[in-house]
Amino acid sequence: MTHSTIAALATPGGKGGIGIIKVSGKNAITIAGRIFRKAGQDEFGCGNRIESHKLYYGHIIDPDSGGVIDEVLLSVMKAPNSYTREDVVEINAHSGHAVMSRILKIVLESGSTLAEPGEFTKRAFLNGRIDLTQAEAIIDTINAQTLRSLEIASSQITGELRRKVETIRDRLFGIITEAEAVIDFPDDVSDLFIPASVKTLLNEEILPPVESMLQQHQRGHVFREGIKMAIVGKPNVGKSSLMNALVQKDRVIVTSLPGTTRDLIEETLDINGIPITVTDTAGIHHTEDPIEVIGIKKTKDYIENADLVLFMIDGSESLSDPDFQIYETIRERRSILVINKVDLLENEAGYDVPQSWVMPNITVSALYGTRIQSLKDLITREAVGNGLADNGSRIVPNLRHKLDLEVSLKAVNSALKGLEDNLPVEVIVIDLKEAADKLGEIIGVNAPKNMLDEIFKRFCIGK
Ligand code: GDP
Repeated sequence: MTHSTIAALATPGGKGGIGIIKVSGKNAITIAGRIFRKAGQDEFGCGNRIESHKLYYGHIIDPDSGGVIDEVLLSVMKAPNSYTREDVVEINAHSGHAVMSRILKIVLESGSTLAEPGEFTKRAFLNGRIDLTQAEAIIDTINAQTLRSLEIASSQITGELRRKVETIRDRLFGIITEAEAVIDFPDDVSDLFIPASVKTLLNEEILPPVESMLQQHQRGHVFREGIKMAIVGKPNVGKSSLMNALVQKDRVIVTSLPGTTRDLIEETLDINGIPITVTDTAGIHHTEDPIEVIGIKKTKDYIENADLVLFMIDGSESLSDPDFQIYETIRERRSILVINKVDLLENEAGYDVPQSWVMPNITVSALYGTRIQSLKDLITREAVGNGLADNGSRIVPNLRHKLDLEVSLKAVNSALKGLEDNLPVEVIVIDLKEAADKLGEIIGVNAPKNMLDEIFKRFCIGK
């Protein structure tokens, strides 16, 4: 347990109804006693006379001048029943730059240091209140942009992923313990390690849940991380109209006059639960440069950063050179061909897509909203990838977990191979221990310092 006391603004800076300053550590209650005066009392009224987990109304007083700084609500959460498992004080003051800075300054001067990003949560982890997956879920909750991402984060916060990983790890430890007994006392307990039974256990109880978690990562990680999508196509095919149809609000200027939709538009949308940041390349044609006119150069830049490209053509016209040139820039990318202006087509089934254009295609009317939901479903399928559909599971390992799971899986497979080849128990145990260690790393057991730094760096100050 660390002994320094940390403090930070826990709410965003700027004007607001309230702003919260959070203090954690052994000096937290003393600091509150120094700067807080309960309403109706002349003396500073905190310290031990303040009960834990109650909200007190009073004032923050400048300890030097005795002047009132703000009218506040203050709460004390005594260790270990707090976010960090240390003594925690929260001051709900009015949110404004001057008042927040003033209170934070006297809190710091009274015996605390400014918290690093994520330091409160890091303490919660180091003090054993939460595991590493729960700590990660806290930042995921803050960053969640769709209800589905929030659902995944919330399940992880309550420890669903941790429990699943712990169960597999415990089973592995069960096998390891018996194997080690056989190594230590080969004559007494040799029947504890029967290769065929161990193989069955690994095949039935260890591999399936590890594999299923890896598959869950593949199915679900886009719901947490989101994807970047670019809408490309020559001028006037309907890119801005599609953006409007997807956004369902008129943020983008839609015009039939090339060149008047000026700027690159970027917006994050919730498409079937996936946070999708869309770049609309309308406005790529405000120059006389023939290359720029069809937007090839800029299109290239946009698609380079995109995970998915919507390549739009005007279904009411035959394809022209610019369409083919844009196709060349996206042919290697994951893309969907969007054939727009279906309302102008007499026979939409008869639209001739070149045979070499093998990406999935869909006919829509961006203007009239025809088949926009089907397009969204197609986007979802392509975003999730490899034909996997979201199965709604709440347990979705992140990339870090996935890498550990992969090493674990490899180690278990190596143990199975070792059993197949009749290798000595000692060798099998090395693989099993590696598998268990990697599972431990997911929940933060013996997590290396640089890994923790990397994770908590993603947090904001005050969390
Ligand atoms: P962009 O240059 O690719 O962004 O194209 P816009 O979205 O600005 O659309 C160009 C013109 O095509 C506008 O007049 C739109 O109203 C029209 N348009 C867009 N989508 C459709 C559609 O589905 N059907 C019809 N009939 N017109 C459309």
